Amino acid sequence: MAKLLIVEDDATLGMTLRLALGAQGHEVQVAPTLARARAFLAAQAPDLILLDLGLPDGDGLDLVKDLRKAGVVLPILALTARTTLADRVDGLRHGADDYVTKPFDLPELSARIDALLRRHGWSHPPGDTAPLEHATIGRLVIDFATREASSDGEPVSISDLELRFLRHLLERAPRVVSREELLTEVWNLPAASRTRSIDTFVYRLRRLIEDDPTRPQILRSVRGAGWRLCPDPAA
Ligand code: CA
Repeated sequence: MAKLLIVEDDATLGMTLRLALGAQGHEVQVAPTLARARAFLAAQAPDLILLDLGLPDGDGLDLVKDLRKAGVVLPILALTARTTLADRVDGLRHGADDYVTKPFDLPELSARIDALLRRHGWSHPPGDTAPLEHATIGRLVIDFATREASSDGEPVSISDLELRFLRHLLERAPRVVSREELLTEVWNLPAASRTRSIDTFVYRLRRLIEDDPTRPQILRSVRGAGWRLCPDPAA
């Protein structure tokens, strides 16, 4: 069972898709606007997005571009009207993985979804993706293979736990990661552990990452929810 996010403003189509794909065992959420889709994506990580391009508050392709810019690799299947396809194909190359034209039939759509999920290794547990080798996070540059890091070109020491912490946030960006998730998955501690060590980490890392650590733009706290990484805050 995969988690699917459908971004579609046509309520009838949204509901039809939710029922049909739900019946195939997927967990399906529908967002009728770009704003709702962005809010959903800030809090949760679906396995695939089914994205209508003509939305009441903007162009679905803008969402594709923003996600790709933020380093989000999850598969996106665009839904587009046949009449406007020609001028969309170029845009689709900028990050959508596949598209189907409306009207489409369900068996075709569902076959495309399954193919994309397979291609993205969905049969593996979440997070089991190709290893991340290098990352630039603000002023901090990390080589995960050699475990070397530099900030503004100056070598800095970075611990294994700090590397795991950053990698965890990076692989889930721009989703918010909760304290409980960090404690269990990075620190291997019970979710209810009382420790200040995450805060200490964040404090130290911001001094390596941010231009102004007192006004963080990249390693951000979300009050009551956790932390998120915005490697490209201008995006
Ligand atoms: Ca539409």
